Amino acid sequence: MMRDAHENRYLEAVTKSGQVIEVAANIGGPDDVEAALENGADGIGLFRTEFLFMDRSSAPTEDEQYDVYKRVAEGMQGKRVVIRTLDAGADKKVSYLHFDDEENPFLGVRGLRYTLKHSELFQTQLKAVLRAAAHGRISLMFPMVTNVADVEAAVRAVDEARAALSAQGKAFGDLELGAMIEVPAAALITDLLAEKLDFVSVGTNDLIQYTTASDRMNPEVTQWYEPSHPGLWRLLEQVAKGAHEHGAWVGMCGELAGTLEFVPRLVELGFDELSMSPKRIGLVKTAIRKL
Ligand code: PEP
Ligand code: MG
Repeated sequence: MMRDAHENRYLEAVTKSGQVIEVAANIGGPDDVEAALENGADGIGLFRTEFLFMDRSSAPTEDEQYDVYKRVAEGMQGKRVVIRTLDAGADKKVSYLHFDDEENPFLGVRGLRYTLKHSELFQTQLKAVLRAAAHGRISLMFPMVTNVADVEAAVRAVDEARAALSAQGKAFGDLELGAMIEVPAAALITDLLAEKLDFVSVGTNDLIQYTTASDRMNPEVTQWYEPSHPGLWRLLEQVAKGAHEHGAWVGMCGELAGTLEFVPRLVELGFDELSMSPKRIGLVKTAIRKL
């Protein structure tokens, strides 16, 4: 299996009946692009941009971010790169950003909820991503989307960034827009979200934690943090169906996407893309090619 995986990593992940799955890599920055390509990634399914914001004393400027996103887009040579907007809050604190004290930070102001509240921070990132989109195939997705109003607000923010760039005479490119599905309520209304988007991508690390009410960081509750819980799979079925009903593609970028025992079910549900740690890609492609 390991040898197959190594040899198969550059091949298309296609089932015997011809269903093609994009098998992509999760990365944290431009330095991971080489490993993604070497391991056979068909694209980047999750670029966690918070790493760019950590270990420094102020937020990266628009030009700094533009440079990083452009390097990733160019490095991927025309393959799709899904950039996630800053997912700060809860487990991902950024020292120079202000977070109010909250009793339940995982249920508080995190992900898109934070960036919608801090529009200057958000606009800077959106402008950098839009400019980088002139140099490659970039998709943009928002973490922690909960309702339709979130998607509408995010789309408005992108429109605002585009207008600002136009006014400044700066070049920018086209983008696909998508939402992460990490909140059970969002999973249940994927059809309504997909109406306004090009794609959705399931973040199972959070979706499992919220669906089973089991903290993903707490070893005492791992027995309830259950990737095989039928409740989760009912949600996943709705996500795939809801997205496809509206012509949106559906991906997954949480740990579950790279877990071999679940790959056949995800393929059966019609997932178009699975994104994972680069080292898992060859194994998952091999498993898909046997289906
Ligand atoms: C997820 O929640 O599954 C996910 C991919 O996002 P993160 O692990 O960065 O929260
Ligand atoms: Mg998450």
